[in-house]
Amino acid sequence: MEDPDVLTGGCACGQLTFRVRGAPKRVGLCHCMTCRKTSGSVFNAFAIFPADRVTVSGANRNWEAAPGSQRRFCPQCGSQVFHWEDGDEIEIKLGAFDRADLFTPTYEAWTKRRESWLSTPDLIGYPENRDEAAS
Ligand SMILES: [Zn+2]
Ligand SMILES: [Zn+2]
Repeated sequence: MEDPDVLTGGCACGQLTFRVRGAPKRVGLCHCMTCRKTSGSVFNAFAIFPADRVTVSGANRNWEAAPGSQRRFCPQCGSQVFHWEDGDEIEIKLGAFDRADLFTPTYEAWTKRRESWLSTPDLIGYPENRDEAAS
């Protein structure tokens, strides 16, 4: 039986999948150069979950952008699926979920790299990384 509290997603070719239980801790956007380059898009949109609520299956490869920061992708189709930060939180890309329009971001990081045509009026903005103390 389907658990309504479980969401699923994965890569474009379907071999790398995930299941996640419950609501995310936070949902945001990032305009930093690493998110731009790795996605090939001008920003990254993601939902962050405690790592113990996420189950991943299938082959995945990692690029460690910084120590403890693992950006994981499907080695077959190249889809970016998730980003693992120091093992206790997993950032899942909104576009990797099987359904659209599940979550609404509340903040955006690295607004100093945001494209000038992009308008995001209702979000809390941070010029660089999200300020833990301010949230
Ligand atoms: Zn794939
Ligand atoms: Zn970023």
